[in-house]
Amino acid sequence: MIALHPARVWSAGEGVRESLSVLVDGRRIAKIAPRGAFSAADESIELPGCTLLPGLMDLHSHLFLHPYNETAWDDQVLKESEAYRTVRAVNHARATLAAGFTSLRDLGTEGAGYADVALKRAIAEGLTPGPRLFVATRAIVATGSYGPARRNFRPDCCCPQGAEEASGIDEVVRAVRHQASHGADWIKLYADYRAGPDGETVPTFSIDEMRAAADAAHGLGRPVAAHATSDEGMRRSALAGVDTIEHGYGGTEATFALMQLKGIAYLPTLMAAQSISLYRGEYVPGGSPSARMAEAARAFARARAAGVVIGCGSDVGVFAHGENLGELQAMAKLGMGAEETLAAATAVNAAILRRADELGRVREGFLADLVAVDGDPLGDLAALAKPRFVMKNGIRVD
Ligand SMILES: [Zn+2]
Repeated sequence: MIALHPARVWSAGEGVRESLSVLVDGRRIAKIAPRGAFSAADESIELPGCTLLPGLMDLHSHLFLHPYNETAWDDQVLKESEAYRTVRAVNHARATLAAGFTSLRDLGTEGAGYADVALKRAIAEGLTPGPRLFVATRAIVATGSYGPARRNFRPDCCCPQGAEEASGIDEVVRAVRHQASHGADWIKLYADYRAGPDGETVPTFSIDEMRAAADAAHGLGRPVAAHATSDEGMRRSALAGVDTIEHGYGGTEATFALMQLKGIAYLPTLMAAQSISLYRGEYVPGGSPSARMAEAARAFARARAAGVVIGCGSDVGVFAHGENLGELQAMAKLGMGAEETLAAATAVNAAILRRADELGRVREGFLADLVAVDGDPLGDLAALAKPRFVMKNGIRVD
């Protein structure tokens, strides 16, 4: 048994509590009690001046991608082998855990097949350090809608794609079942993409295709995440019965109201908009937001006004792994308080994962996924930047 002695403990809805110690037994939090209540026989870890929080979660990651300003997405998919990308992903997972993120929902390997299932297993077996993974495997796109865009290649060029293509109800259902059978915890559908005549975003799947996919996934106990940046893509996703909508930059008030009504959670991926703006020279840190960032900010405000459940998901991979905190800071910058932002990245995310009974809180019986940081993250989220202590599943991360 390991007794942790931080200065403060924070957990969503319970505020900051002082002079408590947390006893970890095996994988779980066994007891939370006033300091001194634990026997000297327990291993003690002093965390003076530190705030202990639940391990952070990012529900939109791509461990098999690295920043696009290093290597363009097309080149990663076309020129980097699955083995090479897996080596990178091992490093990405290590950096993520060291940054205090103990759970990720990894939303698609982007052309690296089912390597996420293998990485999840290796992490769970302790072969390599990393967050608890919830994986989506290959993701599903409408035929011809995704990338690398074939129009950029000679027609007889065999062009690997960043996700599994499917058309029609039979094929999308088959793809869902296939991915689930290979280890997908979540099914990811692309409701829209840049498939218009001039590369503009258009809805891709029909509502019937999406509904069939969602029904098949739910029948197999897998929730569904929908990529949608257009209002129509979001609307179809919501009507089809998906569980989360990703990005949602173009969402109208009516569509966010529909999401609220149907209990569909929103993952804003503000950092994706910011990073792409940065790479394209549309934004300099500290400068005024780009049009893309302003659109994301507008959607975020609409989602909040509509009372949509907002989790924390960054699209990390577009930017560097281990810098997931940027999403929390971007949310706070748009007016979400530190406490609500931290709740989004812990308890709310756990509920979105359907693991609210054992993840996302510092509570007796919960899994011991914990992070301790110097100072007061509720005063300034930047305190989370360099965790002093990280524990996952009761095991301290070195
Ligand atoms: Zn993504």
